[in-house]
Amino acid sequence: MPSKTAKSKELYERALKVMIEGGSSPSRGPANYGDYPLFIQRAKGSRIFDLDGNEYIDWMMAYGALPLGHAHPSIVAAVEEAVRTGAHFAAATEVEVEVAEILQKIIPSAERVCFANTGTEAAMAAIRLARGYTGKPKFIKFEGHYHGWYDDFLVNAHPHLTTSLGYRNDPIKIAESSGLNRHSLEDTIVVPWNDLRAVERVIETHRGQIAAIITEGVMANMGIILPEPGYLWGLFELAHKNGILFILDETVTGFRVAPGGCQEYFGIKPDLSTFGKAMGCGFPVAAFAGRQEIMEALAWGGVLHHGTQNASRAGLFAARASLLELTRNEGQVFAGLWSLAGKLCAGLRRLFQESGVEAVVQNLGPMLQILFTGQPAIRDYREFCASVDRKKYQRFALALFDEGIYMSPSAALHSVVTTAHSEEDVGITLEAVGKVLKNGKF
Ligand code: PMP
Repeated sequence: MPSKTAKSKELYERALKVMIEGGSSPSRGPANYGDYPLFIQRAKGSRIFDLDGNEYIDWMMAYGALPLGHAHPSIVAAVEEAVRTGAHFAAATEVEVEVAEILQKIIPSAERVCFANTGTEAAMAAIRLARGYTGKPKFIKFEGHYHGWYDDFLVNAHPHLTTSLGYRNDPIKIAESSGLNRHSLEDTIVVPWNDLRAVERVIETHRGQIAAIITEGVMANMGIILPEPGYLWGLFELAHKNGILFILDETVTGFRVAPGGCQEYFGIKPDLSTFGKAMGCGFPVAAFAGRQEIMEALAWGGVLHHGTQNASRAGLFAARASLLELTRNEGQVFAGLWSLAGKLCAGLRRLFQESGVEAVVQNLGPMLQILFTGQPAIRDYREFCASVDRKKYQRFALALFDEGIYMSPSAALHSVVTTAHSEEDVGITLEAVGKVLKNGKF
């Protein structure tokens, strides 16, 4: 923790009197931040400033919700216009149609689009839609994948002791929360990722019962773990051969690895996909989209999707401005992001190698994570659980706060390169990492 954070400490003590762990999500509480979190007061571009006036280069970017960085002028102007002319109505709006049209253009699988507020809601709606459309109760979810905090998803989504995971062929379901609906996990089938044989096996066991396979395109909630070549295609084919819908959760990867997300990058066409985070540029806007025939099950509330805040006008003004920025000059923006992320990752790898501290840096374009491990790579959830030193990573990330670098203190959450970051930011970050590695106090 930086030495001059007295005001954050004071505010945390005040917050504890009105909120649990001083905030609204355990990710922002002592589990990740130790004694007290930094209270961030304002931000601009790649920088955030805490209550005490300390400045940090922000590599978390609101958990990936800010592809253009903080307070981008186009977003500020768009949102100002929206709130001046009415933040939200009990009515359909033109901007809703416009954003849906943009999505349809950049995401070929998005034949029809429906807006929600958060990634959790979009994924929950997609599962309900899959169940409603197919008339089947179960779905397949992968170990280590996180799709939000809906009861049916909250299983094997966080790292656990390897001794509690069970045998690969029959993973033990580990609920991530108390208070879940007692029956919610009955229909959730958990399978190791990057293993097509495992999926074939459970399809056989639950024949005729499975509505959907839901997957992240890149495992992004366990560091960054890539799919084996051909794996996503294999999943898609297995699903279709067996009358199962293929749902791609692009909450993290959408508008991040390419304008059209993982489906563009890996060349796949899911039946349904879900989006959130980067879409709203810091505003709670999400969407699920997919084949017209499936989406039509929403008509007349056949499969119900309600929400006072759905398609928030202010949020969609932000989304429209952001999508226009991101798709300018035929994807040049993404070439810049990948190039800058490449420099950051290469620099980090060099520093770790020189320091002798055992770690790997895994990334897909602008999504990256440092994993403290003696392994040459982390290829799946079980390897992550078995060999990533999460406590050491946390100490390292908190030591970086002292140097003005704000990376996630959770080993499972990745860092994000945005259009607001510069070569200078990369240089300052590498210098800080070098210093922390040299001090060795983590
Ligand atoms: N899906 C994935 C892949 C995610 O990473 C997340 C959030 N980290 C969600 C869904 C849930 O999104 P939200 O936090 O907006 O509900």
